Order: sequence, then C-alpha cells, then structure tokens
Amino acid sequence: MDKVPLPPAPGTAEHLCLALANSIVMLPGGQRADELNTPGNATAWLISHDLAPEGTGLLAYCQRQLTDLRGNIRRVLDSHTEGLAPDPGSLDGINRALTAVPSAALLRYGPDEGLLRVPGHPLTQLVDHAMAQIAEDAAALLTGPDAHRIAHCASAPCDRFMVRTHARRQWCSERCGARRRANRAYARKQDKTPAR
Ligand SMILES: [Zn+2]
Repeated sequence: MDKVPLPPAPGTAEHLCLALANSIVMLPGGQRADELNTPGNATAWLISHDLAPEGTGLLAYCQRQLTDLRGNIRRVLDSHTEGLAPDPGSLDGINRALTAVPSAALLRYGPDEGLLRVPGHPLTQLVDHAMAQIAEDAAALLTGPDAHRIAHCASAPCDRFMVRTHARRQWCSERCGARRRANRAYARKQDKTPAR
C-alpha cells in the first residue's frame, strides 16, 4: 500500500468518510501518497477498515468505485469547510452509494432457526455495502453535532480533513504544525532582511 506517511488526522479513527477522504494526501515534496492506487491496495484498504472480511479476494471494481466516492466526499467536505453550497453531482454520488443496497437486515425463516434477521446484501455486493457505510458516515457527520468542527489542514500543501479537537486546532498532525511554524519563521526572517 502506498501508505500516507502521517499519523491519522483527528476524527479519522471515528469516521470512515474521513479515513476514505484522507487516503490520498499531497506531501511537502509535491508527491501524492494514495492508499487506493491499485485494485489490490483498494481491497486491502477495505479489509483494514473492517469493511470486507479478512481474506477477501481482489475486488475488480473496488478501486474505481472507491476513488469515485472519495472524490465526491472530498468535494462535499471542501465546500462545507469553505461555507459554500456543495456540487450537486457530488451529492448525487454520495446518495447513489447510500441507496445502492438495502441497509435493513431482512426477516427470514429457517426450519431449524425459526425467524431470524439476515443482512440483505449478498457477498457480491460487498463493495456496494462498504460504500453505503462510508456514505452513511459522511451524511451523519455533515449533519451532526460535529459538522462545524470539520476542517481542512491549514499547513499547505497538506490537504487532509479532520474533526477539530479544539476550536483553534489548525493542523492535522504535529508534523504539519511544525512545518507551518518553520515556514512562518522563514517568511518573517525574509521580511526583516533589509532590501539592498
Ligand atoms: Zn496536514
């Protein structure tokens, strides 16, 4: 996996939608780290986030579907942090993921077990079901009590999202904070250097 070389941003462990959004990041060197850069890595990402059972074989359609959903979630998060109306196409994409599979467990009857509830999705819909869970998390986060704390890391070029742990938190990680402070100190020094 093309691992993102930073500790998880605040809120990522609690929110699948942030985990997906932050599975790609721009690094200071100008390179992108992308944890979904191959179908195999996309499948591994699903397994590592408990969205597919251990040992799931390569899911051929997984990468494209997940990266599309990631783009839609990132665009909606972006407009939300800017206080702008979201792109309707991106909202549609999230809604398609929300409604592609039945989310309710169905009522079944077995001669031995009697009545029981079973998930309505066959294994072939594993990716759809995973995406529904991520989209559900995005919809809940964006309309829930923490919606106003969603923020974009302020240390360019980092483009990760987080849920602020306190009102003034601006960076997704110690490393981003240190880089921003170093850049500011450098800029101040440049300002004070007398012009020749
Ligand atoms: Zn950052």
